[in-house]
Amino acid sequence: MRMSANPNRREQWMSKGKSHIPVRTCISCQAKRPKGDLIRLVRDAEGVVVRDANGKGEGRGAYVCWNGSCLMSLRTNKRLTRAFRAHDFLSIHPDVFRGVAHAESTASVWD
Ligand SMILES: [Zn+2]
Repeated sequence: MRMSANPNRREQWMSKGKSHIPVRTCISCQAKRPKGDLIRLVRDAEGVVVRDANGKGEGRGAYVCWNGSCLMSLRTNKRLTRAFRAHDFLSIHPDVFRGVAHAESTASVWD
């Protein structure tokens, strides 16, 4: 019985291919997720934190999960401030919370 190839080789090659999906870390819960599963946040010209809808926003970005608790914890802002290396608390544009059920329904309470 002769096998010319290491039977593990193909499996290693396949898993290597899968690792090309970029992974980012949520700044709220620290979960690592594929980039497409996270919301990318950037700062606009006025320094307000906005959603980077097309992924082409310039400068430093921060990533957060698509869920209410991760988004709402941005309101306490320290992690966000650190992510952007800012010195003061950052303003967050209301659009950041749009379309996220829990965050949207409670946003007015915070404003
Ligand atoms: Zn998260």
